[in-house]
Amino acid sequence: MNRKKFIESQGATCLNWTWSWSFINKKDKVIIFGAWDKETNGNTTVILDKKWEYNPIGRKNKAYTQSLEHIRLIEEKGYSLKTFKIIYSDEKKDVNNNGPAVIKDFIPELNTMTLIKKGTKWYALNDRISYFLPEEVENPTQYFEGACRKVTVNTYERNFEARKKCISHYGLKCIVCSFDFQKVYGSLGDGYIHVHHLKPLSEIGKEYKLDPIKDLRPVCPNCHAMIHRRQSDLSIDDLKSHLKKTKNT
Ligand SMILES: [Zn+2]
Ligand SMILES: [Zn+2]
Repeated sequence: MNRKKFIESQGATCLNWTWSWSFINKKDKVIIFGAWDKETNGNTTVILDKKWEYNPIGRKNKAYTQSLEHIRLIEEKGYSLKTFKIIYSDEKKDVNNNGPAVIKDFIPELNTMTLIKKGTKWYALNDRISYFLPEEVENPTQYFEGACRKVTVNTYERNFEARKKCISHYGLKCIVCSFDFQKVYGSLGDGYIHVHHLKPLSEIGKEYKLDPIKDLRPVCPNCHAMIHRRQSDLSIDDLKSHLKKTKNT
């Protein structure tokens, strides 16, 4: 299957099949980006960079304008973001690194991703793989999980080493409701849990050093979403007693 056939089989299209970087399915409100292997770091891929606006000879990339509009639809119009892997080749580049990037191969499989903007770059983050973000994403950020639920996360909640320490101390059960992914989903749920950071980000100064045991708690995604539901976060105890109250009514 070629790339065009694959994209069309997903109900999506673009302005031009040669130069487009991203594709749109208006009916299902989906935007599809190719995710270069060389732009991927862990579960995060740079899908668009302001630096890509102009090509090396100073001409504006039409693909960039189109992709920017696609990003806007995700940010403002509730479109979801999906990516498929593309394999990079520099066979058309000369010694000075000029020339087009060539797609050597691609994997005809879509992954649902979360869009994150940081500096000049837009990232696609795959929540399902792990909770690791590259160092570039150092600031707290808001992102959309699915199309409708807004969750605030911060880097501490996605720091892989800190997460490991928190889990080895508290275990993998939700500290609020005791939900145990492995118990309910078997091997599929093994090792899965969110990690919540207790300190409000506004209270964190420059000197702050994360203590995974003091500052982090394992929570299931439902409880995690409820903690961050309001403008100011609920405490673990608040949510626990809230849950108790609603259960008894
Ligand atoms: Zn829970
Ligand atoms: Zn949290």
